[in-house]
Amino acid sequence: MRYSLFNVIVNGLTGNRFAEPAWRDAAPKPAYDVIIVGGGGHGLATAFYLAKNHGVRNVAVLEKGWIGSGNAGRNTTIFRSNYLLPGNEPFYEWSMKLWEGLEQELNYNVMASQRGIVNLIHSDGQRDAYVRRGNAMRLAGADAELLDRDQVRALAPFLDFENSRFPIKGGLLQARAGTARHDAVVWGYARGADQLGVDIIQNCEVTGFQRDAEGGVIGVETTRGAIRAKKIALAVAGSTSRVADKLGLRLPIESLVLQAFVSEGIKPLVPGVITFGAGHFYISQSDKGGLVFGGDLDGYNSYAQRGNLPVIEDVLEGGMAVMPTLGRLRLPRQWAGLCDMTMDGSPIFEIGPLPGLYLNAGWNYGGFKATPASGWCFAHMIARDEPHPLTAAMRLDRFRTGHLIDEKGVGAQPNLH
Ligand code: FAD
Repeated sequence: MRYSLFNVIVNGLTGNRFAEPAWRDAAPKPAYDVIIVGGGGHGLATAFYLAKNHGVRNVAVLEKGWIGSGNAGRNTTIFRSNYLLPGNEPFYEWSMKLWEGLEQELNYNVMASQRGIVNLIHSDGQRDAYVRRGNAMRLAGADAELLDRDQVRALAPFLDFENSRFPIKGGLLQARAGTARHDAVVWGYARGADQLGVDIIQNCEVTGFQRDAEGGVIGVETTRGAIRAKKIALAVAGSTSRVADKLGLRLPIESLVLQAFVSEGIKPLVPGVITFGAGHFYISQSDKGGLVFGGDLDGYNSYAQRGNLPVIEDVLEGGMAVMPTLGRLRLPRQWAGLCDMTMDGSPIFEIGPLPGLYLNAGWNYGGFKATPASGWCFAHMIARDEPHPLTAAMRLDRFRTGHLIDEKGVGAQPNLH
């Protein structure tokens, strides 16, 4: 009844007088089995799968602002699984499969739309690299198709095919890639976790940690008081180094700002996601009609959630080079988020590095697509105290041993958010 069509009509006609909140406004309890710090997509998905897959329901998600106020609500909403390396591709393909069933799983419309991604090819060497990546994707069970120039032109005739500096020679298509409404993903996981008993506690900043005599982490200090837990999981994305600093941990993560842009709304033009292969620009079109695009990171470390002008110029130059018609549009909105960049562009899943602590971080600028699989695998790690096989290569000690997952072109490299 609560989510029925009848209810929607009644609330529509009465100005939402009878609407119920989609999740409870929980007050913190003195102790939990698991505390998850960070109410972004990853923290909430982890809580949902902890409860659903592992029956661990005495769980709190602590969020310093409102859920989705970090990168979960600031990204350009692209999901895809077009990775090359075996340490990454099966994980992202599992995420893709979870995206494909997410609306049924959550009974929530996350507006997931598999409208495809095309990575443009501008040189013969780049075609070779994309052929290799496409083959690796297909070997891992993902879909990939090499397009020639005419096929790209049929999909996106508005691109500048005659540009002598960056000629378009083809593209790598992943048809199952797409976009989803980022807020709805957060709300869907929050509602699902809440229904399974998880406490979602907003306006609750973790300001410190409680430690035992051996240095183990046994609780958190927050702006709403101290809370104990058997296990404490960090999923704070761009704030990872600042939160880890409260534990005396230095991690191989740098924080950098990434900007995004949206134009005025226009009629349907851009059919899916398109990435420029020779500069810092990628674009899609929202269901409201705005062209949503972005490019490279700002050039220096920062915790500010706003961008600088030189990168705006760089992104617009890239856009004009590949899609000159962009110059006809007004650009009413720009924003930025904080990315937790690792030196190999791949994420970190860790049991530890302190007793009682679990770490989920290093999403660079590509963690939205990972949200379902990240929650799935991190929940497994927390519940079973062992890495999920799909994240086995994503451990912290790879930076010590040198077994990096150096995913060129989709991780630390620009263009393919
Ligand atoms: P967040 O939403 O940032 O969650 C972390 C939460 O922790 C925040 O809500 C924060 O408030 C909270 N927090 C921090 N400190 C504390 C504390 N001390 N106590 C309590 N809570 C705390 N990825 C893609 O796959 N596709 C894209 O198209 C894409 N585009 C992007 C575009 C931009 C402009 C940006 C900035 C990022 C983009 N990303 C994209 C990356 C993606 O958004 C992130 O990797 C992902 O959202 C990170 O995971 P999260 O959702 O859990 O993070």
